[in-house]
Amino acid sequence: MASIKPSAHLADVRYEIRGALTRRSRELEAAGLPIIKLNIGNPGRYGFDTPAHLREAIAAHLHDSEAYGHEQGLEEAREAIAAQQRFRGARGVDVERIFVGNGVSELIDLSLRALLQPGDEVLLPSPDYPLWSAATILNDGKPRYYRCLAENGHLPDPAEIESLISPRTRAIVLINPNNPTGAVYPRPLLEQIVAIAARHRLLLLSDEIYDEILFDGASFHPLAEVAGDVPCVSFGGLSKVHRACGYRVGWMSLSGDPARTTDYRDALQLLAALRLCANVTAQWAVRPALQSAPTINSLTQPGGRLHEARRMILEGVAASQYLDLVTPGGALYAFPRVRADRIPEFDDNAFALRLLEEESVLVVPGSSFNVPHSRHLRLTLLPPADQMREVFVRIERVLERMAAD
Ligand code: PLP
Repeated sequence: MASIKPSAHLADVRYEIRGALTRRSRELEAAGLPIIKLNIGNPGRYGFDTPAHLREAIAAHLHDSEAYGHEQGLEEAREAIAAQQRFRGARGVDVERIFVGNGVSELIDLSLRALLQPGDEVLLPSPDYPLWSAATILNDGKPRYYRCLAENGHLPDPAEIESLISPRTRAIVLINPNNPTGAVYPRPLLEQIVAIAARHRLLLLSDEIYDEILFDGASFHPLAEVAGDVPCVSFGGLSKVHRACGYRVGWMSLSGDPARTTDYRDALQLLAALRLCANVTAQWAVRPALQSAPTINSLTQPGGRLHEARRMILEGVAASQYLDLVTPGGALYAFPRVRADRIPEFDDNAFALRLLEEESVLVVPGSSFNVPHSRHLRLTLLPPADQMREVFVRIERVLERMAAD
């Protein structure tokens, strides 16, 4: 019997962070092999607890969570998000311009679905967080990639961004602090990108889900503050900074000249209403999360778990014959690169498979982030520091074998 044919839309859609390598890793684990996993930014799996006051807020409001809520999110959650955005200098933000969703993931899709006509182009970073490419394609748009090369500290070149603009371009997407590279964008660079958006009347979409995960004094600049009257959608959530991935709560905030975004806002509201509302229960954690000092700081300062894991990565790369790395300033990842002078014919997918099969370590190959012919691998900062040291011993062993092949 003929099998059921899936949508052709999916032909170019990939999400390797949970792809074939992860499936292979699950098989090996089921066979009894302990795997060290550095593949997914899911703090809860590594003993990072969600702050107790968020859990308690949810428990206290279980009974208030039984009905559908407002399609844009609980009023008290949206008030807290709007206050945070205004405090950060965003213009034109009020509760009508805030949307709470089931994670930033849902809102990435919504923001593009409300924007794109078939064939419209979206400027995306390469490497990207691959949902941005997938959601562009699934909403009939075309990704156009601007490069964030290691040679340039994984920062984009504004001249390249501008050179990619065509009459079909609708938006520029930024991921800052960046997944997968850990780059944190300096203010002058953001100013240049805002100027490009203003010149070409493009919407700015700024994925800032790692906004408070910063190392060694790195400064995060919210794009909405830099953008002023230029329309900008800023994305944030509970998953990373507040270590509550499983709650599935994210938000987006629409800033800039309200006259330019009213139709877009109405389109977002219609799409939000079609799916009724986001998970109501978990939204009770938003106000307590935003109204207390971020507990993540104790983890990113010297002695904190994320800081120490990152230190082990820096030491591991420094001691390696094969790797180099742009030091990550924020987020939960490092994106080391295998040096071309040491292993000229390097295949990141083959390497990641060997690392898994031969040394029981799971990483994500750089090419999973929409970079052609990547020499990178993405590591999360989540495992404990001593495990990280062991990971580098194993990575080095596989690279040695590959260099000898
Ligand atoms: N954006 C980026 C850059 C991410 O890294 C992730 C998750 O890893 C998301 C969005 C999705 O986050 P959420 O858990 O809020 O759906």
